[in-house]
Amino acid sequence: MDSLESTSPRFLYLDKQRSDFDPHLEWLQPHFLDAEKNILLSIHTFLVRTTHHTILIDTCIGNDKDAPAFPQWTGRKGSYLQDLAAVGCAPEAVDYVFCTHMHIDHTGWNTRLQDGRWVPTFPNAKYLFNKREWEHWQDAQDAMDQAVVRQNLLPIIEAGRVAWVDNGWGLDDEVTLVPTPGHTPGHCSVQLRSRGQTAMITGDMMVHPVQIAEPQWSQRADTDKALAIATRTRFVNQHCDTDTLILGTHFNTPTGVYIVSAGGQKRIKW
Ligand SMILES: [Zn+2]
Repeated sequence: MDSLESTSPRFLYLDKQRSDFDPHLEWLQPHFLDAEKNILLSIHTFLVRTTHHTILIDTCIGNDKDAPAFPQWTGRKGSYLQDLAAVGCAPEAVDYVFCTHMHIDHTGWNTRLQDGRWVPTFPNAKYLFNKREWEHWQDAQDAMDQAVVRQNLLPIIEAGRVAWVDNGWGLDDEVTLVPTPGHTPGHCSVQLRSRGQTAMITGDMMVHPVQIAEPQWSQRADTDKALAIATRTRFVNQHCDTDTLILGTHFNTPTGVYIVSAGGQKRIKW
């Protein structure tokens, strides 16, 4: 986890207020909403070790970044690399990096600052860039988006570390990219399969567990809100009452949950 953020519901869901969460307080508090009904969001990288590879899914915010839209993330000095080292992962040992999409909080540690230049943090890794996502970002006009391209994406392309992939791409028999568009055009979630069990890493297809009960709640940052709602609704229905472990990229602890139906509603259990 790179960061735990507390924010008002309106920061994420433009048309929602604290009282809109009331039907779900029983299972959202205290893990995902605090006592004042502020949303608790964490920002995760998933370190995946398969039979063959060491893979990082999403790379959080990064250090030393210029983040025009997020003053709290500008010039950060987080302990991300030390945290990775603490679980036995050296930067040189990472084989692949995949970002579910190209927002700042999913691409930050793609690079680190060295002698005034942005260089790949994981020098031996291939970075899997989705062609559809890059098509959306390469001509970014917004200052925040341009900062992401300049600091987190172009240095990887220029260093020759990109492997271009498309929706549905399988890294090996255990890791597959599953298109979940709407938050961004090339957004992909990640399916993990191991020993007969399945898990799904959400990315920002949903950012808070309340969207399992309320998949029609749009996030401020969803680029195509109608498509995002359709994708999220399908995902919730597909995985409800199954043994698929849902790994929420912004779910505070517990980050791994199951979708269940209860009393005509959907919620999570862990
Ligand atoms: Zn995010």
